This record gives sequence, structure tokens and C-alpha cells, in this order.
Amino acid sequence: MASHIVGYPRMGPKRELKFALESFWDGKSSAEDLKKVAADLRSSIWKQMADVGIKYIPSNTFSYYDQVLDTTAMLGAVPPRYGWNGGEIGFDVYFSMARGNASVPAMEMTKWFDTNYHYIVPELGPDVKFSYASHKAVDEYKEAKALGVDTFPVLIGPVSYLLLSKPAKGVDKSFSLLSLLPKILPIYKEVVTELKGAGASWIQFDEPLLIMDLDAQKLQAFTEAYSELESTLSGVNVVVETYFADVTPEAYKTLASLKGVTGYGSLLADKLVVSTSCSLLHTAVDLANETKLDAELKSWLAFAAQKIVEVNALAKALAGQKDEVHAFFSANAAAQASRKSSPRVTNEGVQKAAAALKGSDHRRATNVSARLDAQQKKLNLPILPTTTIGSFPQTVELRRVRREYKANKISEEEYVNSIKEEIRKVVKLQEELDIDVLVHGEPERNDMVEYFGEQLSGFAFTVNGWVQSYGSRCVKPPIIYGDVSRPKPMTVFWSSTAQSMTSRPMKGMLTGPVTILNWSFVRNDQPRHETCYQIALAIKDEVEDLEKAGINVIQIDEAALREGLPLRKSEHEFYLKWAVHSFRITNVGVQDTTQIHTHMCYSNFNDIIHSIIDMDADVITIENSRSDEKLLSVFREGVKYGAGIGPGVYDIHSPRIPSTEEIADRIRKMLAVLESNILWVNPDCGLKTRKYSEVQPALSNMVAAAKQLRQEL
Ligand code: GLN
Ligand code: ZN
Repeated sequence: MASHIVGYPRMGPKRELKFALESFWDGKSSAEDLKKVAADLRSSIWKQMADVGIKYIPSNTFSYYDQVLDTTAMLGAVPPRYGWNGGEIGFDVYFSMARGNASVPAMEMTKWFDTNYHYIVPELGPDVKFSYASHKAVDEYKEAKALGVDTFPVLIGPVSYLLLSKPAKGVDKSFSLLSLLPKILPIYKEVVTELKGAGASWIQFDEPLLIMDLDAQKLQAFTEAYSELESTLSGVNVVVETYFADVTPEAYKTLASLKGVTGYGSLLADKLVVSTSCSLLHTAVDLANETKLDAELKSWLAFAAQKIVEVNALAKALAGQKDEVHAFFSANAAAQASRKSSPRVTNEGVQKAAAALKGSDHRRATNVSARLDAQQKKLNLPILPTTTIGSFPQTVELRRVRREYKANKISEEEYVNSIKEEIRKVVKLQEELDIDVLVHGEPERNDMVEYFGEQLSGFAFTVNGWVQSYGSRCVKPPIIYGDVSRPKPMTVFWSSTAQSMTSRPMKGMLTGPVTILNWSFVRNDQPRHETCYQIALAIKDEVEDLEKAGINVIQIDEAALREGLPLRKSEHEFYLKWAVHSFRITNVGVQDTTQIHTHMCYSNFNDIIHSIIDMDADVITIENSRSDEKLLSVFREGVKYGAGIGPGVYDIHSPRIPSTEEIADRIRKMLAVLESNILWVNPDCGLKTRKYSEVQPALSNMVAAAKQLRQEL
């Protein structure tokens, strides 16, 4: 019984790689400086695993940006627009593909399975000339070997690579990505031959696509690929690794019969190994650097550095060396026991309230059309009402105020006054722009999940618990360790302060339970949906307090509802059921006259439209700037449903200011499909990352366009 690690975080315990990359990109340090930081990180990771006693230590899991992009480089599949003319791919071409350069935009990025990691999508077509253009896998193997660590190189397998790609622009619709298999396998052969020559005795091919719902033709591609590689793979142990879910029975048959492959998953040759279930890339790096978490809470957690110790201890125990790890196991048992019995984890009241939800449905009593009528009597809005999604620009000054308040450098009074001033400014601007439903601008929030997590019990925050999101970007998710409750109102003060500054309706602004859940590390001692119901009850309290405080419009953002969708279709229904139920729980208690909005940051939800409708919100605002066509069917469903719909009329991700005509045109197109009485006019998403010099004219044009259309109707 031996230990095996699928992959390890690259960023470093204190995000050393991030800072080295950004300094290099800014021209503040040299390529050599960057390479040195990277080499030091790799070496410390390998040594750390060797010291712990891990038997199968991975290499080539480091990346300057992304492992899929590394594979694109390995295969020489550089899109022509980057002007690469052969030879080993260097930083210039590599980072241009990742981030774009002065004249060419970056390649597209998309989510890596159900994680918050994003990979660079390869762009392939029938004319791509593949060549062996990055020797990184071999170089890293040799580098580790020189340090005295014999690693197993990890490659993204050929079939997963192709299935993760997209056809390049302009490529014929009939083109099949898998048709490129015969063209990329020769490169894989070259790499394997070189690795063998360098002394590698194990090679891991990551084929995570095997856990998806695959048709027979795709499964066949795996069989063909490994049959073709078989002769080259002889003389080396080959492991095909899958992760993020179990493989389907059909895929298992394929996997178990692959030629040239000696092991898969936790079965290496005929030996079972103890392994991580996926790469540790998706977890934080080292708990040792958490200075603000107390010892008890820390004893309940394991980051990557701790997980490798656990894997090793399990392997030892299973290999019969129990005595060696006895102390480790007792400490772990004590930690588990303390967690189980801790009042910090269990809150009887919350458990009871959440349990009481089971089996019952929660829906507002009146249907949406009747509710909208009741709300309209109160709100008296024009047709095509205008609004925004919540945040206004976060200036340097604003960030400073928040930072200094957190660090106790300014008093609470000073802080409150500054935020009030900011709100006053935002309210005044919106009144001048003649927007119908106002927002307070969210100046008190750093992040839409963190802000709520910090005020809810059951959440903890780390100092260094960063997880790579893409490139040099990392996120620091809150940790949900206990039952969630809301000790006191979280947003009522700011929302009612803002409402007191205007006679127009002020939207209360909350983050929904599913989004809070999906953007946190969630406790593993109860099902996710139970944790979600608890958060829903906390948000419900807040919704009702806002209503009591005179807030008549409340937006509950569910930006991340779609991204929590499980990888396998068979699991969609269950997820959507509890996710949507959680959302409804938050607002089931309000009066008909209270208008509930929700906002979602994506538009490709054709497949889950029934669930979106089932959320039973009064108004749904969605991102729309990039994919009008796809939304049409969603709109049609919406018409039947009767709720208000606000498809974004301009893209907030770009600094470009849309003209009145352009926005009016957009609205006209929407009106061709939608009834005018349900259409709202709003930007795509929050304005937090924009400048006032962009926001002011853009919103002014948006309002002008809405007014123009009202005339035309
Ligand atoms: N209300 C949030 C904001 O405007 C919504 C952000 C989001 O959808 N990601 O910033
Ligand atoms: Zn959004």
C-alpha cells in the first residue's frame, strides 16, 4: 500500500507565483527572476512530499498559467494570430495566448469541470500543424530528478485534451475535434519516448472527461488512442487518472480495458494506493500560515500540505505500519470528536428549523402576475422601468476607508460617515440620471459572499487560504464549519439609510443562499443541501427585516446558481430542486406588495429555464450582452410565466460606452419577443469594476434609450 498525490497547488503558500508573474508582466522583473521563483516553488513542493514519505510524487503539475495551455504549447497548437514561427514556445507566445497582447486578444477561458478553476480553451481546426513545441514535462521530470526526487510526470491525456477544445473560428460545422487524434498522438509518443529516456518509470495521463456522460463514439476514442500508444508505452507504467466524480459503468468498461495502461484511479498495476481524489490544486495551500484561526478550528481543517500527510498516514496504516502513525491517528480522532460535539458546530435551534423545512414546499401564496399588479399599485413605475444590478464603482478612496476601518485605523463613526457620503453620492447620481429603482451602490462590501459570511455565524475566514481561479488570480473562499445563523440584521441599516435619502424605491441587496454556498468551502459532515437550507433561513430573516424597515424591492442575487450544477445529468434534478427551494425559502414570508428581484450572471440557462421560473421571483435580471440568440427561448418561456425580465442592455465588462441608439436597438429587439409590460432596462451586472467616467454616460444613454422606447410604444 503506497501513497500517491494527483497534483499540488502551484501558487505557493503565500502566493509567491502570483506576485512573481504580475511583476514580470509589469516589466518590473526579468524572465530569469520569474523562473527562479517557479523553480524554488517546485523544488520545495517535491521535497515536502518526499519528506512526508509520499511514494508517487507528481511532476509537470506546476504551470505558469494553466495545465491545458501547457498541453497546447506541448502540441504546438498555437492559433495563427499569435505569430509563432516554430521552435520551443517561450514566455512571449505562451503569455500572449493566456492574456492577449497589445494587438491580439487572449484565448477564451472557461470553467474546469465543477471547480472554480478556469482553463484556456484550445482552438483547433483541420489545418492545425501539430509539433512538439514545449518540453516542459521532460524538463520538470529531469529537474526533480536532479534534486533527488523521482517523480511521475503528469500529462493531460489526448482524448480529454481534444474534448476540452473548441473548433477555431470559421471552421466548418461538420468538423470533429476527435478527428485530430491521429495528428496529436505522434507528439504524445515523442513525449513519452523522451520521458522514458530520461528515466521515468511511471507516467500519468489525466483523462477527467471519462467521468462525463459520454456517447459510444467518444468512449471508442479512448480505446483507439491508447491502442495506438500501446507500443510506445511499453516499458513504462501508465496510470490513467480520472477525478471530480466516479466514472460511469460504461466508461469504467472502457477504462479497465485500455491498452498499454497499467493502472487507473487508485489502482496502480495490481497495487492499490491511497491517493487524493483530485488534484490538490483546488484547495488552499498550508494551514500552518493561518495565524488568525484558533487552534480548535484549525484541528478540524486540512489544506494541501496537511492532506499529503494524511494520505501518507493512511497508506502506512493500511500497509500494516500502524504503530508509526498511531499518534497522528489519535490526534485526528480527538479533533473529529471535538468537532462532533462542539457547540460552535451544532446549533440546536438552527438544526430544528432546517429539519422542519423538510418535506414541505415553500411558495408565495399569490401568483406572480397578481403580485406584480399589487406591487405596481405601490411602486407606480413607468413601463420599461430602469434599474442597475447593485454595485457602483469602487474607488481607491472607498477601498482605503474600508481597509482602515478593518485595521482599526479609523473610528466606526468616521467609517459610517464616509460610507453614508458615498451612498448619498450614488443616490444623487441615480436621481439625476432619472433611474426608476435605485440601489445604494454596495460601498460597504468588499465581496458579495464575504460580506455576508463575516456577519453570519458558522463561517470562518483565512488569511492565506487562496485557491487559484485562473492565471495569477486567486480567490479566498470563506469556510463554513458550523450551523449557520444570523445573530443580527446585516444590511438593514445601510438599506434604510439609503431609502431615507430618496422618495424613489430603493432596492435591498442580498446574496442568495445558493451563491453563498457555491462560493465557500462547505462543511463535509452534513449534505450540502442542509447547509444551504440553513443559509436560506438566515437570509429569510434578513429579507423580512428589510421589509419591516420599509424596503419594498429586494434583490437576492444568485450569481452562482448555474455553476453549482453537477457534472452529470442524472444529478441535475436533485440539485436544482433543493437550490431553487432554498431561494424560495428566503422570500416566502413577504407580502404580495414586496417585489423580489433576482440576478444571475450568465445567460446560457436554456437547459435550466424551468428551474429559473420555479424560483418564482417577481423580476429576473440577467447577463445578456454576449448571447442574444440563445436567450430567445428563455424569453418566450418568461412571457408565459409573466415575471418581469431584465436582460442586460449593455456589457459592463468592457470600458466601452454604449450609445443611446445602440441600447435602443437592443431594447427594440427584445420587445420583438417580449411584452413591453414585463421588460426591465438594466446593465448586465454590477458596476463595481468600472469607473464613474464610464458609468455616468453609459447609464445616461441607457435611461435615454428607455425613454425613447416609451415614446415609441
Ligand atoms: N449585486 C452584485 C453587484 O452588483 C451582483 C454581482 C454579481 O452578479 N456578480 O455587484
Ligand atoms: Zn452579475
